[in-house]
Amino acid sequence: MRIVLLGAPGSGKGTQAKRLKVDLGIAHISTGDLLRAAVKAGTSLGLKAKAVMESGQLVSDGIVLGLLEERLAQSDTKPGFVLDGYPRNLAQANALDGLLARVGQPLDAVVKLNVPDAAIVKRCEIRFEQEHRADDNPETVRKRLAVYAEQTAPVADFYAQRGLLTEIDGVGDIDAIGDRVLAALRARG
Ligand code: AMP
Repeated sequence: MRIVLLGAPGSGKGTQAKRLKVDLGIAHISTGDLLRAAVKAGTSLGLKAKAVMESGQLVSDGIVLGLLEERLAQSDTKPGFVLDGYPRNLAQANALDGLLARVGQPLDAVVKLNVPDAAIVKRCEIRFEQEHRADDNPETVRKRLAVYAEQTAPVADFYAQRGLLTEIDGVGDIDAIGDRVLAALRARG
């Protein structure tokens, strides 16, 4: 199954994507993780991405698409994948459409996790204390939420128009949210 998980930063996409990987036997592809690995490895791409990520802005579409194409070429994506953090704007949604159409592997479903901003801010505060992610500091979280509202929120409409979107209540117990996600996917066959 080929799935996109949508939702604001801190909405639980990573947590739910990890569960789907296990439950459905598909690859988990987080563009944020791919970028953080490039930053850590000190590649030229990572050096370009670092400051942009720390400011809470989006890394350029070309850089992220390159990383994604490379990742999708790996064999563990054959049974399917869950995309976490991509697409983040309409240009990326169109690029993904083209990429998947070329390989004859269109998306099966898009699941959006709905979490109110106040809960997001709280979750990111906790993650900042636990994981020390520079972009989880309260000021950058506000910036990331603004970028999400402006650039990523329209992506949900893009998929709704194609009949692919299901929205899920992303507040509450992690297992209960996971069950809702699975039920939504099963309902799509
Ligand atoms: P995430 O872990 O998905 O919250 O991503 C962390 C940061 O990586 C984001 O705030 C962006 O700076 C960058 N990033 C991740 N995915 C993308 C993407 N699809 N397009 C542009 N930038 C991205």
